[in-house]
Amino acid sequence: MDCIFCKIVNHEIPSEIVYEDDEVLAFKDINPQTPIHILVIPKTHIESILELDEEAKPICGKIFTAIQKIAKEQKIEKAGFRVISNCGEDAGQEVKHLHFHILAGQKLGTKIV
Ligand code: AMP
Ligand code: ZN
Repeated sequence: MDCIFCKIVNHEIPSEIVYEDDEVLAFKDINPQTPIHILVIPKTHIESILELDEEAKPICGKIFTAIQKIAKEQKIEKAGFRVISNCGEDAGQEVKHLHFHILAGQKLGTKIV
């Protein structure tokens, strides 16, 4: 499968991993939009939120548990952070492997777009 995030999971291309367990991987975004910009992904290939069927849904709980741990490790839990998942064309989803952006390290403003 020609998926860049699957290649990161398989260590075929390098990444700066900040968190890993059996089912979830988190690594630094290569083109950070904020001082802290981390991507959290399921290790299995799921294209987007729309592909989360009944079998795949439990991974979301694991991803959000990972996000809690990462927020504490990165010491951003008090100051705050934003989590975004782009789905489809209008959202500008570039990589078709489900991922959650953690954005932090600065005031993010009140507007989402
Ligand atoms: P999205 O637009 O939501 O699909 O976001 C894809 C994100 O993946 C972008 O923020 C990219 O900077 C990031 N990205 C693409 N390739 C890599 C890579 N090899 N390592 C880390 N982040 C990447
Ligand atoms: Zn993939």
